[in-house]
Amino acid sequence: MSLTNSNFDDVRNWDIEHHLHPWEGMEDPAAYERTFVEGGEGIYVTNEAGEKFIDGPAGMWCVQVGYGNTDIPQAMAKQALEMAYVSPFSNSNSASAQLAHEIAKRTPGDLNTVFFTTGGSTAVDSALRFVQFRNNLMGKREKKVIISRQKAYHGSTYLSSSVSGKERDKGWLDQAEGLVYFLPNVNPYVRGKAQTVAEFLDEKVADLENAILEIGPEKVAAFIAEPILASGGVIVPPKGYHKRCLEVCRKYDVLYISDEVVTGFGRLGHWFASEAVFDIVPDIITCAKGLTSGYVPMGACIISDRLIEDISGDASKGATFSNGFTYSGHPVSAAAALANIEVFERDHILEHVHKVTPLFLERLHALAELPLVGDARGEGLMGCVECHVKAEGDQLSMDHEVGGMIDAHCAKMGLLLRPLINMCVFSPPLVIEEAQINQMFDILGEGIRRTTDDLVRQGKR
Ligand code: PMP
Repeated sequence: MSLTNSNFDDVRNWDIEHHLHPWEGMEDPAAYERTFVEGGEGIYVTNEAGEKFIDGPAGMWCVQVGYGNTDIPQAMAKQALEMAYVSPFSNSNSASAQLAHEIAKRTPGDLNTVFFTTGGSTAVDSALRFVQFRNNLMGKREKKVIISRQKAYHGSTYLSSSVSGKERDKGWLDQAEGLVYFLPNVNPYVRGKAQTVAEFLDEKVADLENAILEIGPEKVAAFIAEPILASGGVIVPPKGYHKRCLEVCRKYDVLYISDEVVTGFGRLGHWFASEAVFDIVPDIITCAKGLTSGYVPMGACIISDRLIEDISGDASKGATFSNGFTYSGHPVSAAAALANIEVFERDHILEHVHKVTPLFLERLHALAELPLVGDARGEGLMGCVECHVKAEGDQLSMDHEVGGMIDAHCAKMGLLLRPLINMCVFSPPLVIEEAQINQMFDILGEGIRRTTDDLVRQGKR
């Protein structure tokens, strides 16, 4: 839309009057001042007034190749002009077939079958439904329970939201009762003061095994986990966590779904993080976001040969996987994803992430020195600062406004963040240069210092 052709006050009013945004508070929509993002180049976005910001969260962890790339839109336009839509049910198309092949080449182990979806939620939903389908066909109809984790986020469909474990989202909407079991918080930062990380790791693995035994292995279908728990606060598990959890799953015939909607496509310097970073080959991987660098919606759930073989041939009993979307494998999205992969390879994006990650993590960890910061953690190009406020309090004391206060200060200095209660999360476009990383952390450090001054003035520190 061109703002030159419309009055911006009208536009803002239309947004307030007619546009219900995700996670919108219902009390007074007019009170919420949203930034209108109208342009972008590289790691920067510009608002309606032409002010420029570093996009700390890369949209929503997705704009991997940065803004203003022309290869992806050109590939989309070419595909749309040639053939804009093909039914994935009765037909196929070259773009989605080629993309399935390119994805399968980059997945770990025997994960070779790609089911395309419209985004991350529908990828998780399809993964969970495939697990049900496979178990039902194999006569394991009792195996229904999904084990997930507190603070996990897996999506906004009925099923994917049911396996999401954020407290703040529970209670307002109904969820699939009795289907999901949530393991306790896996954040090493909130472990007991006397507990070592190694002991915490043992406890977390035991939490999974005990849950399976308590529910009964014959009733547990799958364990779902983000390699790094992303919007729950970039929770990096202790080394070995996923590997040991996979071993527990194997022991009890529980499938392992690795939700790589955030970690897939370069965030940790690899196409997928499950094997390359965490040394596991899960049964199913879900991805979205970075698959098209956010230029157009698309997701995928990638299934292992083992699971496909379990229900192929005679074992299929004539069944069909009755799950699919009008836009599964949409040719324009597939063309965008193929172009995105080409840009990754041409511009050596994965190598670039490896090159700049040490500086990113060094500057991130240095923030822990600031008195307001309880924990500064991250991996690859994902970071989070978790604040604690009460001077005499323990490390868990939280202040609900602090993330928002830091975010507001940083926005004034040209950096957008994602505030989450007492945390700020960031995951910049993967094309970020070292000088830009320094600029980003300079602003963030200053934003935290200014917030600390505010808190002192308010008598909260
Ligand atoms: N899984 C994870 C780990 C996510 O972070 C998200 C979105 N933030 C989703 C699934 C859902 O993806 P989408 O919003 O594309 O439906």
